Amino acid sequence: MIVEVRDLVVHYGAATALDGVSLSVGEGEMVALIGANGAGKTTLVNTVCGVKQASGGRIDVHGNLALVPEGRHLFASLSVDDNLRLGAWRQKKRTTGHVYDLLPGLTKLRNRPAGRLSGGEQQMVALGRALMACPDLLVIDEMSLGLAPKIVADLAAHLRDRNTTDGLAVLLIEQNAQLALDLCARAYVLEAGRVVAEGPSGELAGSPEVAAAYLGLE
Ligand code: ATP
Repeated sequence: MIVEVRDLVVHYGAATALDGVSLSVGEGEMVALIGANGAGKTTLVNTVCGVKQASGGRIDVHGNLALVPEGRHLFASLSVDDNLRLGAWRQKKRTTGHVYDLLPGLTKLRNRPAGRLSGGEQQMVALGRALMACPDLLVIDEMSLGLAPKIVADLAAHLRDRNTTDGLAVLLIEQNAQLALDLCARAYVLEAGRVVAEGPSGELAGSPEVAAAYLGLE
């Protein structure tokens, strides 16, 4: 396993955001975490990445994680190339070449300030920045939010390609359950801080828990 979360409990003050969540992602796996607004998805990501502290349970990580955060968090005044370099600030060698090879659409944008890109282009830069760290597991929080279906399909194709070609593992956090279940072989459904369903995506697709996650969007 690259990441294994067991019985995770997380609080904000007196409020319980995660209430005994267990999930895992194995090498080369693509796994989805779906759930309505407020289910606890971002809390889980932040806790796994060490931004938020847990009050119970355990998290075991074997390998490098890179995060594509919700809202992308690019530096608007910096160029695409500089934003990419920030994805590898820990490494001495910071060549961006391999990311332009993987995401050729970024090449013509390399000198443009990130703040002047479209939402889809920005999401591509956020993906490229995460790939700069050559991670074993990519954690992606709300990749599709606010993006046109064509752009989302393009991003999904890039992820599938990295998975099949390089064995990159992905934990995809999505409100768009359809996208998540199409892309990932296995999924967890989170509701009010608990995993209410898990299993192969094909089996979950028609489940009442997934329907509830959808309805929660309205
Ligand atoms: P969204 O898609 O809206 O981000 P989510 O599934 O990611 O939803 P979280 O953002 O993890 O859900 O929120 C889980 C619960 O924790 C919610 O009830 C939310 O109100 C609460 N929560 C999140 N962040 C904070 C915070 N900083 N302080 C207090 N409560 C919080």
